[in-house]
Amino acid sequence: MKVKRYKHARKYLGFYKHNFNFREPHQVLIDGTFTHMALQNKINIKEQLPKYLGGEVQLITTNCILKEAESLGKAVYGAYIILKRYQVRRCGHKDSPVSAHKCVMSMLADSNKNHYFVATQDPDLSASVNGTPGAPLLYLHFSAIVLEKPSVTSTAAASSMTSKKINPSEFEKSALKKLEGEGGKDNEKKKRKKRRGPKQPNPLSVKKKKKKKSTEQSSAVTKETEGKKKRRKRKRVKISSHVNGQSEAQQDSVS
Ligand SMILES: [Zn+2]
Repeated sequence: MKVKRYKHARKYLGFYKHNFNFREPHQVLIDGTFTHMALQNKINIKEQLPKYLGGEVQLITTNCILKEAESLGKAVYGAYIILKRYQVRRCGHKDSPVSAHKCVMSMLADSNKNHYFVATQDPDLSASVNGTPGAPLLYLHFSAIVLEKPSVTSTAAASSMTSKKINPSEFEKSALKKLEGEGGKDNEKKKRKKRRGPKQPNPLSVKKKKKKKSTEQSSAVTKETEGKKKRRKRKRVKISSHVNGQSEAQQDSVS
């Protein structure tokens, strides 16, 4: 189960790195609901988050988030203390603090260009984060940190960006056509070469042919030699005919 959770985290993190240029140190924007849940489940965020994301992590919050946690009093005092240890980022609401939800969404703006992860247990804020392209959401499932699967908004944004990257411009299209034309010529040449190929001497086939030729030649030679042998035989017969005068006469009549 643990291995599967880490595997998913790596996969989703890869998605944000590849499509939205996320780089270390990962900036995790944490709200009071997340630290409260972590405290209840005895999770050390500072220790566990870098392990889970497999890299350096910056834990950050905002003045608005702190104010909201503080306003909730004793019930979330522990969470407030934890939040106070994190780096407080400027949010632009110094004089008139807003809700944590509003503040986080203003930090993300339209496209989360600062590459924030949002760590929250607030379902309303989670839904809003999921509506922003390239905004990873972290939450706690009991004592386990979970990086949520990239939202539909994020995947749609990623695919439209990749299609822009993949689809060639008009200039590129014309250049490609030219290249294709040249490539076609090359292919034709290659094809021609291929056609020539079998006709050109193939060392193996040549050897075989030579063997064939040699056998043909040798067969011719053997025919000749056979003829010679025959003559020789006749001669031998002639020689032997010295002994027998009748056979010599017979041989002469044959030849
Ligand atoms: Zn704010």
